[in-house]
Amino acid sequence: MNCDDARVLMHGHLDGELDLADDLEVQRHIEECPRCTSEYAALRAMRTRLKDEAFRFEAPAALKEKIRRALPAATISRSNGYQSQRGAWVQRTARFVVPMAIGAMLALIIAPRAMAPALNQQLANEVVASHVRSLMATHLMDVASTDQHTVKPWFNGKLDFSPPVNDFVKDGFPLVGGRLDYIEGRPVAALVYQHGKHVINVFMWPTTGTATSAERIETEHGYNVEQLTVAGMNCWVVSDLNQLELDKFAGLIRAKG
Ligand SMILES: [Zn+2]
Repeated sequence: MNCDDARVLMHGHLDGELDLADDLEVQRHIEECPRCTSEYAALRAMRTRLKDEAFRFEAPAALKEKIRRALPAATISRSNGYQSQRGAWVQRTARFVVPMAIGAMLALIIAPRAMAPALNQQLANEVVASHVRSLMATHLMDVASTDQHTVKPWFNGKLDFSPPVNDFVKDGFPLVGGRLDYIEGRPVAALVYQHGKHVINVFMWPTTGTATSAERIETEHGYNVEQLTVAGMNCWVVSDLNQLELDKFAGLIRAKG
């Protein structure tokens, strides 16, 4: 992770909004990089400061007068009662709107790039996090088998769909097993393949109809991610395998679909 990435992600880190993989990486970078350490400290101090009651302040009289003058002239000739009501409204508005506007401006200055990432990017992050988790824990496989006729039926009754399971051993990508995983708030099939020492996770779940068949290749934290739609299935392929070989593997999956 470089400083640019860290600077974007440290906002989410501070608010505890990152997934496991991002959170660990940004934490590590902040600890190791003096520049980002001080930036993170400044960010934290700024957040504390923004929460401070003393930071709120009364709008100056001149601004109140300006807002009052900007209101439609017709209402000025109304009764005193109405005017004093309106005066109170102006005061209330100035008291709340001005600090809010300042807060919004600060937010724009502080976090211009911390806007919500695109849905697809979020999904890619989730897929990478699941891949990393499957390698870290001793939970790479629920069913360890190189036989597609063992792996496919294993999913029966565990999922409300039947994922296509193929072995690509002849092409150098043997199937080694499968497991249940959880992506986008739903149970999905995870097929595990191997290529040399590299593990490939293929996450599959039915498309919701509107999904495109276009594939996207994205690199997340040194992992390559590829998305494709095969036989009505949303397929996410993730590995630390280089892009060229992962492409080849994705091509094999696509050819079977
Ligand atoms: Zn840095």
